[in-house]
Amino acid sequence: MQFHRDGFRPGDPDLHVATVAVGRAPLDEVDVLIVGCGPAGLTLAAQLAAFPDISTRIVEQKSGPLQMGQADGVACRTMEMFEAFGFRERVEREAYWVNETAFWKPDPAAPGRIARSGRVQDVEDGLSPYRHVILNQARVHDFYLDLMRRSPRRLVPDYDRRFAGLEVGEGAYPVKAQLERLDAPGDFETVKARYVVGCDGARSGVRQALGLTLKGDSANQAWGVMDVLAVTDFPDIRLKCLIQSGGEGNILIIPREGGYLVRVYVEMDKLAVDERVSARAITLDDLIRAAQRILQPYRFAVTETAWWSVYEIGQRLCERFDDGAGHPRVFIAGDAYHTHSPKAGQGMNVSMQDAFNLGWKLAAVLRGQSTASLLASYSSERQGIAQDLIDFDREWAAMISAPVHSVDPAQLQRYFVQAGRYTAGTVTRYRPSSITGEATHQALAAGFVVGERLHSAPVIRLADAKPMQLGEAFPADGRWRLIAFAPFELPALLALCEWLAHADASPLRRFTPAGADIDALIDVRAVFAQGHRELRVEAAPGLLLPAKGRLGLRDYEKMFCIDPRADIFDLRGIDREGCLIVVRPDQHVADVLPLDAREELAGFFERFLTSPSC
Ligand code: FAD
Repeated sequence: MQFHRDGFRPGDPDLHVATVAVGRAPLDEVDVLIVGCGPAGLTLAAQLAAFPDISTRIVEQKSGPLQMGQADGVACRTMEMFEAFGFRERVEREAYWVNETAFWKPDPAAPGRIARSGRVQDVEDGLSPYRHVILNQARVHDFYLDLMRRSPRRLVPDYDRRFAGLEVGEGAYPVKAQLERLDAPGDFETVKARYVVGCDGARSGVRQALGLTLKGDSANQAWGVMDVLAVTDFPDIRLKCLIQSGGEGNILIIPREGGYLVRVYVEMDKLAVDERVSARAITLDDLIRAAQRILQPYRFAVTETAWWSVYEIGQRLCERFDDGAGHPRVFIAGDAYHTHSPKAGQGMNVSMQDAFNLGWKLAAVLRGQSTASLLASYSSERQGIAQDLIDFDREWAAMISAPVHSVDPAQLQRYFVQAGRYTAGTVTRYRPSSITGEATHQALAAGFVVGERLHSAPVIRLADAKPMQLGEAFPADGRWRLIAFAPFELPALLALCEWLAHADASPLRRFTPAGADIDALIDVRAVFAQGHRELRVEAAPGLLLPAKGRLGLRDYEKMFCIDPRADIFDLRGIDREGCLIVVRPDQHVADVLPLDAREELAGFFERFLTSPSC
């Protein structure tokens, strides 16, 4: 991380200088009103809080932060996003690491008992620099809340506010939202906003206000989930386990943070068509007894239950993520748009990725950097992702609920391994659009797939010889990145830097606001094909050592070299003659270009960036 750019400031660098009066009354006119403090709402709020010039309110009907329950699986891709928000290490330290998954099936010699049938590595090597971990959703919320509290806007949620309706009109703040004050019965307040985002979960009021409905089907199967402290002789209790019993149903065991707590998903009753799980009045004792039957011959004595719930499996989706206007003003994200079964561990992850997709776009439009047409790409990009999620979940939920005689344990294990990339969140691929290229030059960097997230790899920073992940250089700050891969002295690289820094047609010259740092909007970096000891920092092009901030200090963190233990050019199939990678603010690869593709590069940014004078 970089700090002291505008002068030395003692203390915690994560605590930003406040740009608002602390303890001020909640605003009734804001750029963005977010409804709901779940993972989607908090991701969006944290992203917007990074911009001192954007005013945000986030409201929640509950009286305070979530304490327990709900989701706990954090996919590798989400850890990459947490890295960009700056709290990945805190999550990793506290969480359970899913290293291996065990499979259990009925013992062939005694079908009433279960026996271990297989064990696999959970995430394939090299898929991501970060782990698949398990941590209570409430702790993920805490990290976001902490980040927001320390941001320049000192953003904190307004609890005890229930969204009660909205109307979209004209003017600077065209959306008028009604909030019911649950802490002052009978009182309502009106908030005017440029944009409203409904992150208000499966029963979303914002979705209803837009006249949208969730459509889909139900597998008519009840499941229970409990977070428990238990005394057991089941040997794999500290491994993620998929257990198929002979005739008592199936179980998924998810060990939890802290070394003792464990989450158990238990298959319960088959439901009649259109029957709700609440009609069965399933109790915690029912869950525990079912788990004990499935785990035979092992003992499973629950000593304390932290949280439990029952639910029916269903997959539902609505037709779009926004109000459908040419310039959309109201959006929905997360469970408000897609609901599915929890056992693939996708709900929290996909919801946060929805918000990560929307956050930088809202910021770019609000800050006058991009045209409002950028906002329509949110719905079009995330719709495909939500549909994939629903399709995957339907298949996975059916397999996991299937009796052992219809889905063979080996088949289940194979499917689990195949689905690994999907559940890690790393296969999300945005289709060609105004902000994602056609991949015409994909062969120049086969491992940076256009549309997918930038697959990070090790590098060594030139100026201070720091071994690091390339992706760690890209915080969630709303900036585009241009990463040139080339030999240090390559004339095409020098010519590109010269053109970017000085030509009238350069997107940096055209779109960076006057007086701002040269990398304020588009951040240019280079990864050289040589080792760091072979190169001289002082011979680098000026664009890669820019003077920044109030004091004109040089930024020495733009240049990287190969790490000879894991050469990024080999790992990602990068042409050693050089190429340029365009990366979106949400870390997805927007395009791969030759170093001399000036017109293509200029044309790409022209599609959605606006000149500061406009
Ligand atoms: P949510 O997390 O649902 O957050 C929505 C927020 O909006 C809530 O805080 C809600 O109080 C608030 N809200 C709703 N209406 C209003 C309103 N009118 N005004 C103001 N605020 C409002 N996933 C798993 O992977 N594993 C699990 O075991 C699991 N268990 C779950 C158990 C429960 C009881 C629930 C509700 C969800 C569970 N999930 C689980 C799903 C997972 O938690 C969600 O996919 C994820 O939280 C979605 O995030 P979100 O931000 O879209 O919505």
